[in-house]
Amino acid sequence: MQETKTIRTTRDILKDVRDQGRIIGFVPTMGALHEGHLELIRTADKECDFVVASIFVNPIQFNNREDLEKYPRTLEEDLRVLEKNHCHLVFIPEVEEMYPGEVSEDYDFGKLEKVMEGKHRPGHFNGVAIVVKKLFDIVEPDKAYFGQKDYQQLLIIQKLVEKENLDVEIIPGSTVREKDGLAMSSRNTRLTQEERQIAPLLYQTLLKAADMVPEKKPGEIIEWARQQISAQPEFSLEYFEIADAGDLLPVKNFINNGNYVICLAAHLGNVRLIDNVIINS
Ligand code: AMP
Repeated sequence: MQETKTIRTTRDILKDVRDQGRIIGFVPTMGALHEGHLELIRTADKECDFVVASIFVNPIQFNNREDLEKYPRTLEEDLRVLEKNHCHLVFIPEVEEMYPGEVSEDYDFGKLEKVMEGKHRPGHFNGVAIVVKKLFDIVEPDKAYFGQKDYQQLLIIQKLVEKENLDVEIIPGSTVREKDGLAMSSRNTRLTQEERQIAPLLYQTLLKAADMVPEKKPGEIIEWARQQISAQPEFSLEYFEIADAGDLLPVKNFINNGNYVICLAAHLGNVRLIDNVIINS
């Protein structure tokens, strides 16, 4: 596995790969890798000839300083598991390499960025879009892999590709979970033992809520779920929403053959967790 830190070297290596007619698959990450990331790498390895990962904790997508400072960094172990899972090249730039000057782009994703994560983390998706666009320009992948764990982010990236006419296929990967249902996340390592034990309540609530579709009304389900989570004082629920899976607008009534996603964000101790379930009826 090759490791690069500069845009120049990364481009040079990938130009040769492209000239050989090899299909490039790309998995952007912020490191502290777990099975969710590695599943994306393995899928890329199955579908492409050359797998590129990036590890970059993107400062401009954090709207909380403490979250950025405490973001787990486990580079040595990350490199070990990437190599083990047949990643060919890992790009690990410094902040100055990615942002040599002022950052001024201002993407407009319309309603998609006005709900849920977009609403509660102002500027977050603009930061995500800026870094992903830069990474796509550097790597020029044929296919790029994103997890459904960050469902809204996946839709934002699809919109970015459409808006900017980017020549890359976006491939979604299902959410990988711990045995007890907790969605894998780099931030899970920051949970205390007690917090880790109760964390699966979020997914359990999502599953039960999904089971109530379409018999109960969205409003009733949301109310029930809020009570479930609020019954545990360790949680502070930021949002719990039932949305159309295509545009993420809140659902008032269920219809036949509707596709929905139930999304939540909650603080548990100092850690902010998000999760979702997708319902194709
Ligand atoms: P991150 O390092 O958190 O920026 O995540 C990098 C990529 O891995 C994103 O496309 C995430 O959606 C994806 N990802 C993170 N956690 C999971 C998970 N538990 N299951 C599947 N994909 C995930």
